[in-house]
Formats: sequence, C-alpha cells, structure tokens
Amino acid sequence: MKQSVCILGATGSIGQSTLKVLEKHPEKYNVFAVTAHSRLNALVEICIKFKPQVVVVPECKKDEADQLFKLYNIDKIEILTGENGLITVASHKDVDIVMAAIVGAAGLLPTLAAVKTGKRVLLANKESLVMSGDLMMQEAKRNNALLLPVDSEHNAIFQCLPEQYMQVQRSGVPELGVSRVLLTASGGPFLNMPIDRLEHVTPSQACKHPNWSMGQKISVDSATLMNKGLELIEACHLFAISERFVTVVVHPQSIIHSMVQYIDGSTIAQMGNPDMCTPIAHALAWPERINAGVAPLDLFVNHHLDFQEPDLEKFPTLNLCREAMKAGGTAPAILNAANEIAVESFLKEKISFTHIPYIVEAALNCIENTKADALDVILEADQAARKMATSYVIKMGK
Ligand code: NAD
Ligand code: MG
Repeated sequence: MKQSVCILGATGSIGQSTLKVLEKHPEKYNVFAVTAHSRLNALVEICIKFKPQVVVVPECKKDEADQLFKLYNIDKIEILTGENGLITVASHKDVDIVMAAIVGAAGLLPTLAAVKTGKRVLLANKESLVMSGDLMMQEAKRNNALLLPVDSEHNAIFQCLPEQYMQVQRSGVPELGVSRVLLTASGGPFLNMPIDRLEHVTPSQACKHPNWSMGQKISVDSATLMNKGLELIEACHLFAISERFVTVVVHPQSIIHSMVQYIDGSTIAQMGNPDMCTPIAHALAWPERINAGVAPLDLFVNHHLDFQEPDLEKFPTLNLCREAMKAGGTAPAILNAANEIAVESFLKEKISFTHIPYIVEAALNCIENTKADALDVILEADQAARKMATSYVIKMGK
C-alpha cells in the first residue's frame, strides 16, 4: 500500500529535496498535502506536478488563494489557509508521513499536531524541538509517533546507534554502551576568517555555505555556529542525553555527518556526500533503504578528512546553547526566538553579524526562565524573547 505524505514547507530547500526523493518512488509514496508561506508560484508548480489533494497557504486570504489556483486551472484541490490549515493537514487521518520542513518557530504547532496524532514525523524543523523539547518527546511517546531525524547529523547518529535504540529511545542511549556523541560541524563560511573581520561580513557572504545549499536562516545559523548549538539541544532531546555527552567536532569537508563512540573504544561514523536527499530517504523508508539519487562517496576523490575543535571565542553561540540546554525550562525557547529575530534583522542589514550572539545572550539574561511544561508557557517565552530582541535591534541598529 502506498504511504501518504504531507510536506510542511514544500517550497523550501528540504521540501524540494523531499519531492526529489518521492518522485523516484511513485509506487511507494503519494504526495497528499503541501504547504508554503511564500514563493506561491513554486507551490503552484509543485501542485501541477504532484497533484496533491490538499494545499495550504497559511498567509493567504481564502479568496486570493482560490483565485490563484483557478488561474492555473487547478480545481481538484482543497485549499486551506491560516495556521489551522497547517495543523489540519499535519494531523489529517489520511496522512501517514509528515515532513516537518517549515523553518523556525512557525513549525512548532503543525509539527506537534503531527506528533500528537501518532504520525511518522520526519523532523527537519529543529527549532520546534529546541523550543518544546521535553513536551514534544513526551507527546511522541504517549501517541506512538515515530520521530525520525532528518537533520544530517542526527540522522547519522541514529544510523550509528544499535538497532535496540528504537526500543529504549526515550530512556537514553548510555544504556547501549554509548560513551559519547561526536556532532560534526563544517565550521561555516567564516571558519578561517580572523575574528576582527566578522563584524563587517554581509548577508550574502554569510549565506554562502561551503558544502551545503540551504535556506537563508539556517545558512546564517551555520555561519554563527548557532545551527550547531541548536543541533546540540536537538541531540540531547532526541537521544535522551545530557549536553556533557556531546562533543562538537569541526570537520570542514562534511563527509562524516556525525559519530558515536562506545565504551569498548569503537567510534562509528556515518559518511556520504553532503546531500540532504540521503537523510530524507533514510527517514522516509527506515528500516528499509531506498534509492536517494545521491552518488556514492568516492574516497579516492574525498581522501582528506580534517578535524579540529571549535573556536568558542569567535563563535559564542555554541556556549550559549550549551548553557541554555543546561538551564532547561524555557531557556532554549528564549534563545531560539531571540536568534530568529536577530538573524532576520541581520539579513535585512539592520544589525551586524556580531550583534546576533549579543542579542541572544541579552534575551537569555533578561527574560525569566520558567518550567516549560505546557505549550502556552513556551509560546509566552517565545513572544517575550521576540519583543526583547526587537528592542535590542532598534537600540543597536545601523
Ligand atoms: P527554507 O527557507 O528553504 O524553506 C522553508 C519553508 O518553510 C518554505 O517552504 C517556506 O514557505 C516555509 N515557511 C517559512 N516561514 C513560514 C511560516 N511562517 N509559516 C509557514 N511556513 C513557512 O528552509 P530550509 O533550509 O528548507 O529549512 C527548513 C527546516 O529544516 C529548518 O528548520 C532548518 O533548520 C532545517 N534543516 C534544513 C537543512 C537544509 O539543508 N536546508 C538541513 C537540516 C535541517
Ligand atoms: Mg544539520
């Protein structure tokens, strides 16, 4: 029987890679629903090609959306709008698999809705797990959702864990003889730039990632190393481990996607060309393997693997994330929201690159950290941090 897939954020970098993999396996999967916030022409093209039953345009007015699809003679499609539209498709009874690929906090409610309805959830939207960590993991357990990591590092760690991992998933991996998780980082475009030049880097320099082609927000996060910090928090929740268990290793070639060390001295690595179609295909088909359309690694070409420690002075976001994870409660949600505002402001050239960690730290220091045991508490912390970060942007603005 074919499995029905809902792609949240279908027009984005992960959304497009997901469609590329699905296209190769029409006998296994059908695209039931797609959503997009902007680039609606790209969404229309997706609808023409994949013929989903439902499309969601959260920011559009219903009559404008109806008109747009009529213009292209797409009539056999249900059109939903608003955040409720996203939640409806993510939890739809006819959906088996949800690809959570909206960027940022906007993905939280639909991803949580998919988890609460026990779907196979392919998690790319790391911000939703960073914000709601314990809550999302508890809901996954309670509702028997299969939360599978798409983030290449977490997917690699998942692949390096023993098979029994899925049975003990929520009690943590140390019981399986795991002694350490090595989270690899490319180091981003400014790995070798002197610290005093960071202040003047431009958004286009920050978005030019050496190995991966990604959306703008995650590209800036990779340049500040915030992405790795968010991934540290993501790993702690997914694999039920303390942040002390995770070492960040800079590996500029992005060939090893992460590693797991065992108490017997073994280090297991997952390797491959840097292409998100691999982790997407893995999470789609697990425990089976399907063709992702990615060329196999040629070790005679990629014969150089380097490793180094991250420069924590140059990239302070990494420690901010570690501290937020240690503090727990709403600290990660505060950190994430302040970062989203700071990154957006940097992309609009309102602040400089080095203001980003400063604003995140200020929000963490100013907003009270409370227990994150309910969704409204998390959303309140998110809003407070956005307000605070916005006021800093105005104060520091260029
Ligand atoms: P992107 O910017 O290319 O695409 C984002 C998608 O989300 C688009 O379809 C967009 O229309 C939609 N979207 C944006 N704002 C929205 C809103 N307010 N409401 C509803 N939909 C909205 O981003 P991306 O690079 O594909 O990343 C998506 C997620 O996957 C992020 O959380 C990112 O951290 C994660 N991720 C991406 C990569 C990668 O290689 N791109 C790798 C690992 C993890
Ligand atoms: Mg990653």
